[in-house]
Amino acid sequence: MSLIVAVDIGGTQIRAAAYELNSITPFAQKKTRTRTSEPGVFDRLVDTIEAVWQPGRVDAIGIASPGPLDPHTGTILDTPNIKEWVNFPVGPRLCETFGVPVYLDNDANMAGLAEWQYGAGRGHKDLLYLTVSTGIGGGVISNGKLLQGFRGMAAELGHITVDPNGPLCGCGHRGHIESFASGPAIARYVAEQMKAGKDSLLRDTPKPTAVQVAEAARDGDELAISAFERAGYYLGIAVANYLATFDPSIVIFGGGASQAGDLLFLPFQESLKKNVFHPHYLDDLTITKAALGDDAGLLGALALARLALEQDERQKSR
Ligand SMILES: [Zn+2]
Repeated sequence: MSLIVAVDIGGTQIRAAAYELNSITPFAQKKTRTRTSEPGVFDRLVDTIEAVWQPGRVDAIGIASPGPLDPHTGTILDTPNIKEWVNFPVGPRLCETFGVPVYLDNDANMAGLAEWQYGAGRGHKDLLYLTVSTGIGGGVISNGKLLQGFRGMAAELGHITVDPNGPLCGCGHRGHIESFASGPAIARYVAEQMKAGKDSLLRDTPKPTAVQVAEAARDGDELAISAFERAGYYLGIAVANYLATFDPSIVIFGGGASQAGDLLFLPFQESLKKNVFHPHYLDDLTITKAALGDDAGLLGALALARLALEQDERQKSR
């Protein structure tokens, strides 16, 4: 029986898994560290894939990778976690090595695709996935198709401006939603406010983590609560913009910040109601948590390869 090999290239781990037709339980899997003291990420990637490879049985490889990247050419443009890959044609190089088609897209798009095919978004045709974690990323399914865009750079939902005078974003621009609502952004806000003289239960922790801020907020700390209110307020503005752009029937939240629960989601929902262009966008809108956890990237890569092969089959049979 034929197999698909799915690969998730994360900041700390490369994971590869082989799946049989219609199954989302891996037949074989392998993990390797992405970064070691030596260069050669590509060689480690090849070794990891070889560990699950079944000669003559694999139909395609699907890859979830950190971006920015070009899914049309299979090229990583540049990525902070893998400095040696600049304009690196990982898709074509793997195709050369293994002799099967290779499909590639960024990790947030792949998590969105996975939630649509196998997770919380099954049955929807218009889906918006947002991961709120150390960064903010997104994936959009529009009319039953993954939205990739002309350059393959659609749905960079963390880098839309919600306040041009806002904090500096990890990307170098100001006031992107990531600079207000990511985990580090919430923690940084608390640190800055304490430095400016605000009192807090965290006063002995000058550089708290987002998890510590969440704990303080649950203990009733006003500054920590206000940090989540601020993040939720801006997240509501961002999602109001996405609703006006994509008009989804479901919004799925993934990533660590979705663990913050009502601390973030109550102010978010209030802000969304206030800022949405028309209340009709909220009729029958499902807002929910991601279902697939750490496997989302891998399962998205699997779905990407399966959908691409199905499309090829359809084109051949015409
Ligand atoms: Zn940005």
